Amino acid sequence: MLLSNERQALVEYGKKLITSQLTTGSGGNLSIYNRSEGLVAIKPSGVDYFEMTPEDIVIMTMDGEVVEGNLKPSTEFRFHLALYKNRPDVNAVIHTHQVYATTIACLNWELPAVHYLVGYSGNKVPLAPYATFGTQELSDNIVRSIGGYNACLMANHGLVTVGPTIASAFTVAEEIELVARLYYQAKSIGEPVVLPDDEMTVIVEKFKTYGQQRS
Ligand code: 13P
Ligand code: ZN
Repeated sequence: MLLSNERQALVEYGKKLITSQLTTGSGGNLSIYNRSEGLVAIKPSGVDYFEMTPEDIVIMTMDGEVVEGNLKPSTEFRFHLALYKNRPDVNAVIHTHQVYATTIACLNWELPAVHYLVGYSGNKVPLAPYATFGTQELSDNIVRSIGGYNACLMANHGLVTVGPTIASAFTVAEEIELVARLYYQAKSIGEPVVLPDDEMTVIVEKFKTYGQQRS
C-alpha cells in the first residue's frame, strides 16, 4: 500500500478532529502531501471518522488522478491540491466546521488579532468568499484569500488550516477555535481590543522558536 504512514496519521487525526470538537459526522477533511513521492493521501468523501481505516484513504497525484483507493476522494480535493501547488511550505491541509470559527465565517467577518494566539495563522485569519462546497470556485477563493496565512475562514462554511505537518495544521485549527471563541465572547460584552500589526509581527517571529526545537 502506498503512503502507509500518511494513511495512519490521517486516521489518527480524523478521530482527533471529532474528539476535540473541531468537526462533526463526516464533515471536514484532511490530507498529507508526500513531496518526495509527489503523492497526496486524502480522506474519502462522506466517511465517518471512527469507521475510516487506513485502507479507505485515497491516494492521488497532483493532477487529481486517483492512483490507489476504492472510495471517492473528498469532494474538496481541489483546494487541498491547489494549496500544495501554491505553498511550498505546506505538506498538510485540514478543513473543519469548528463552531466558533464558523460562527465568525457565517457573519462573513475576518478574525482579528483579539488574542496573541491568532499568530498561529498570522496577524489575523482572513476570509474566503462563499462558493459551493467541492467547486473550483471555492478552491480559487481559498488560495487567493489565504495568501501566506496558515488559516482561512470559508464564508458560511468553516475553516481551512495548513502546516508543514499534520500535527501543526491541527494545532492551528485548535488555537484558532480558542481565539474565535474569545472574540465571540468579548464581542458579546464589549468591544474587543485588537493587537496592532507590529506586535503581531513580533509574535509570529517568536512562534518560530516557541517550544522545544527538535531536529
Ligand atoms: P467530504 O466528506 O467530501 O470530504 O466533504 C465534507 C466537507 O466538509 C465538504 O466541505
Ligand atoms: Zn466543509
